Amino acid sequence: MFVRIYLYFFFLALGAIVGEHFLPVQTPWLGALLVDLAIALSWFLYDARRAYKILEWIKVGHQNGPPFLTGLWGEMGERVHKLNRIHQQSLESSDRRLMEFLTAIQASPHGVILIKADGKIEWSNKTANDHLGIDLLRDREQIIGNLVRDPIYQAYAASNVYDHEVVIEGHQSQINKPLRISLQLFPYGDGRRLMLTRDVTALEQAEVMRRDFVANVSHEIRTPLTVLAGFVETMQNLNLNPEEQTRYLMLMQSQASRMQTLVEDLLTLSKLEGSPMPSGVQFHSVEQMLKICEDEARGLLSALAANQEHFKPHQLSFELSLNSQGLEVAGNKAELISAMSNLISNALRYTPSGGEVRVSSQLNATGDWCFAVQDTGPGISAEHLPRLTERFYRVDRSRSRETGGTGLGLAIVKHVIQRHGGEMSIQSILGRGSNFSFTLPKSRLKASHEDFYQNQTDPSFR
Ligand code: ADP
Repeated sequence: MFVRIYLYFFFLALGAIVGEHFLPVQTPWLGALLVDLAIALSWFLYDARRAYKILEWIKVGHQNGPPFLTGLWGEMGERVHKLNRIHQQSLESSDRRLMEFLTAIQASPHGVILIKADGKIEWSNKTANDHLGIDLLRDREQIIGNLVRDPIYQAYAASNVYDHEVVIEGHQSQINKPLRISLQLFPYGDGRRLMLTRDVTALEQAEVMRRDFVANVSHEIRTPLTVLAGFVETMQNLNLNPEEQTRYLMLMQSQASRMQTLVEDLLTLSKLEGSPMPSGVQFHSVEQMLKICEDEARGLLSALAANQEHFKPHQLSFELSLNSQGLEVAGNKAELISAMSNLISNALRYTPSGGEVRVSSQLNATGDWCFAVQDTGPGISAEHLPRLTERFYRVDRSRSRETGGTGLGLAIVKHVIQRHGGEMSIQSILGRGSNFSFTLPKSRLKASHEDFYQNQTDPSFR
């Protein structure tokens, strides 16, 4: 800077000397003045041209480096360029951070919507879009209240009290596939609001199931308990003869054992839910398990015969197909036997006396083990089939109770089979009979002897 001033005055002094001595004018001082004026004008024009170049460079966006200039303007260009580069880098880094932040919010299982002070949508993540049916390309800058029309939300938004969440019907909620969305607003900044949404459908369903479960258990226990209390009262107040007493005691015993079975089934279910997955290394012979089930089934048949007059025994058959002979299954033996027995005992209990029950074991085409129980009982109409494995669901309550059912049997079977990686299936035709079966995957099977492989049609077993 100082060099520049020195130079300027140096040229002026030099000009004054040249003008004074060499310019042909009347007075020397006029010569000096004219030359100095010429020098000052040239300096100004030269400077202005350089300043203009810098200005032009700044105006067009100065992506490229500054124009090549020496001196003050050159340095100024370099400095502006440097500052600009720093500014650019910090902009890029905050852009990157913003993108990372938005990507993280995109990955969130919760919906996030940024709402401006005037109620317009600024940004929303995919989860929120799915929950509320927002298309960000179309709906950015739209008033959120115009998109979320649910009256519960409208009242909530208007209330200006956002210390709690509200639950509304989600976008695409259907009667058979409800979608319940909880949302809450959080004010921030200058009148802006953050909306968080989350899918609470499963939570609400679990809560309904929990309430139903408690109500069902209470009801199931209360009924025999009331009967039992009635009998106790009768025995206390009436003078019964020994025969009557025996009859009453037997009735009381049957109510007590009904409660006991219920509690045992409940405990089985809760144990199944709380215990680790069944072993994949302990193998059990299918043949042996089938034998145990057959013994139990024959015992149940005798009990049914003893309790019913004119009872004609069922035709009960057990078939172990050639390709499942020598087969072993990995898992929890007690659980598997209980699942198999449950299906057999249902078939025997619900099939009228004299009917037919066929139990079979075989390897199916995909190499999975299939256990099936087919009966010629009353059958079940199609609308009941999807709900049969729900706890306490019964098609015919009185028939279930008459035969000592708790309504938990199929829920236990389904649980056991799922825990073993298998699938349960139910086919039934009203008035014709039912077929309850389950399959366990190939990964849980092995052969106990070499003959097994000779019996296989599936080449992957050889
Ligand atoms: P329950 O203890 O009442 O037998 P389950 O869970 O074992 O309970 O069965 C649920 C319902 O499914 C039964 O109440 C009955 O209505 C129906 N069901 C089960 N097995 C059969 C079958 N083999 N034939 C006809 N109905 C059946």
